[in-house]
Amino acid sequence: MRVVSLGSGSSGNAFLVEAGPQGRTKLLLDAGLSTRMLTTRLAAVGVSLSQIQAILVTHEHSDHVQGIPTLLKLYTMPVIADIKTLTAIQDGLRTGVWRTDSGRVVRAKLDPDPAEPVAITTTEVPDTSRLVREAAGQVIVPNTPASIRIPHQVLPAGSRLKIGDIEITSFAISHDASAPCGFLLEAGGCRVCLVTDSGEVTPTMLEHMQHADLLILESNHDRERLWRGPYPWHLKNRILSPTGHLSNDQAGEAIVQIWRESGMRWLWLAHLSRTNNTPTLALESMRLYLRAARVNMAHIKIAALPPTSGQTWDSTQLWQ
Ligand SMILES: [Zn+2]
Ligand SMILES: [Zn+2]
Repeated sequence: MRVVSLGSGSSGNAFLVEAGPQGRTKLLLDAGLSTRMLTTRLAAVGVSLSQIQAILVTHEHSDHVQGIPTLLKLYTMPVIADIKTLTAIQDGLRTGVWRTDSGRVVRAKLDPDPAEPVAITTTEVPDTSRLVREAAGQVIVPNTPASIRIPHQVLPAGSRLKIGDIEITSFAISHDASAPCGFLLEAGGCRVCLVTDSGEVTPTMLEHMQHADLLILESNHDRERLWRGPYPWHLKNRILSPTGHLSNDQAGEAIVQIWRESGMRWLWLAHLSRTNNTPTLALESMRLYLRAARVNMAHIKIAALPPTSGQTWDSTQLWQ
C-alpha cells in the first residue's frame, strides 16, 4: 500500500492511495486541487490521472472537491461518497458554486479552460459504479438514486465498500458539511486512517483511528494563535465549534487516548492553517502530548503535511 499527500490545507486537499500487485488499485482521496496540479503532482510519483479508478470524498467543501468538475469532464471515474455529499456535489456542479471551509460561497472553476461554463448539469453520464463493483470482484446491490447523475458509488457514512484491492470503511466525523466522513482504508494487512475537518473527536472516530498503521489527522490550528489572529470573531467561533476544525491540542489529546506501542507507527498532521498554525507549532504540540503520556518516541514517526506535495508512505516500511 502506498499513500502520497498531494496537498493538505484550506487551499486544497488530495491524497493518492495505491494498493495491490504493482499498485493496480489507485484511488484519489478527495480532489481539492486543479486537474493541472493533480497531473503534475501525480506524475512526480509515477502515476497518471487516467489510472485513477475512483475519487473518494470526505465532504463537499471546495478545498476537497474543486477538482471534480474538470476530472469528470476528462476522465471516467466515479465519485464515492455518502448520498448527501453526492447530492451536494451535484448541486455544486449544477449551480457552479461551492461552499468553502470558512463558510464562504465561491464560484466553481474549471480548468484547463476556466472561461467555460460548468459542463455537467443534467446530462446523463455512464454509470461507472458497475465497473467499480466488477473491479472489486463482488456484487453490490446498486444504489443509484435517479437524482444523482454524476458517475458515482454511494458509500453511506458508517458502511464498507471494496474497490479492487482496497477495503474502505467510512465513519461519521463532526463538521459543518452534509455528511462529513473519515475513512479507514485496508489492503494487504495494512491500515491507513484519514480524519480531517472535524470540530471534535468522537468515540466512533477513536474506534477507527486506533486501528491505523498510518494515521492522517487534522491539526488545524493553535488555539492561542487563532484567538489572537486576524480572523473575524464569527469565523473564530466557527473553527472552534464542535463542527469546525481540530486544534493542535485536540489532536494531541486524541493520540494519547488511542496510543498503544503495537499500534500506529506513522502520524501525519494534516490540514494545517497557514494563518493560525505552523508545522513547528503543530509538531511541538504533538510531541509534548506524547512525552507527557510517556510514549516512546522511537515508536512513532510524525510529520506535518505541507500545502503542496508532501509525504509518501509505503507499507513495506512496516516490515523494515
Ligand atoms: Zn471542510
Ligand atoms: Zn477542508
